[in-house]
Amino acid sequence: MNRPEIHISFASELHPLAAPERRRGRTVLATDGTSTLGHVVESLGVPLTEVGRLLVDGREVPVSHVPAHGERVEVRAVDRPQRVPGAPLRFLLDVHLGTLARRLRLLGVDAAYESEDIGDPELAARSAAQRRVLLSRDRGLLRRREIWAGGYVYSDRPDEQLRDVLGRFAPPLAPWTRCTACNGTLAEADKDAVQDQLEHGTRRTYDVFARCTRCGRVYWRGAHHAQLEAIVDRAMSEFGGAAV
Ligand SMILES: [Zn+2]
Repeated sequence: MNRPEIHISFASELHPLAAPERRRGRTVLATDGTSTLGHVVESLGVPLTEVGRLLVDGREVPVSHVPAHGERVEVRAVDRPQRVPGAPLRFLLDVHLGTLARRLRLLGVDAAYESEDIGDPELAARSAAQRRVLLSRDRGLLRRREIWAGGYVYSDRPDEQLRDVLGRFAPPLAPWTRCTACNGTLAEADKDAVQDQLEHGTRRTYDVFARCTRCGRVYWRGAHHAQLEAIVDRAMSEFGGAAV
């Protein structure tokens, strides 16, 4: 029996994920004649969370399309910014993305994260139950059907990861409103109320205080925040206007 042959090409943004032999324009692929296009794309290394439109001979088709012999398939990347239905936009990060989670929280973005590995099934279930976009560098995790929505994080460097996520999902930014330790929201606290939680030097020098409504941690604005200020300034100048 002849296996149907299709011609498939991936958008350049997807090349880091696609099988090496699929990174150069259009290539021929023998399919089994029964698998859906979604399955074919995933079997070539690209999770469907990263895929935008699928075109067959120039016409858009759903992932359930079963490719037929001779079809020319074009796999596009998700639009940037990508609109995720079901606002508010919230995230869940896997165990390897702790630095990214803290930076998102610094910018006021709701970013759930557990420093211990709770396992793929539990992460996927939480994404579904809490309607959170699951961020990961693990393609197997992003292929799980139960996840609410997902995003592959392309870089292993926190600076690039942050730009990637902010550029892709364009979350509204509200720096200094969320606890970087636990993701709780911050409320203003007056100096007297937090007095006993402060070092003497802090008590004398700084006046702007906030406290986490979830874990009680106290925050203040101080010179030692220079590095965090730089992260916030950079993100706000590039992405601060993108919020709706
Ligand atoms: Zn907290």
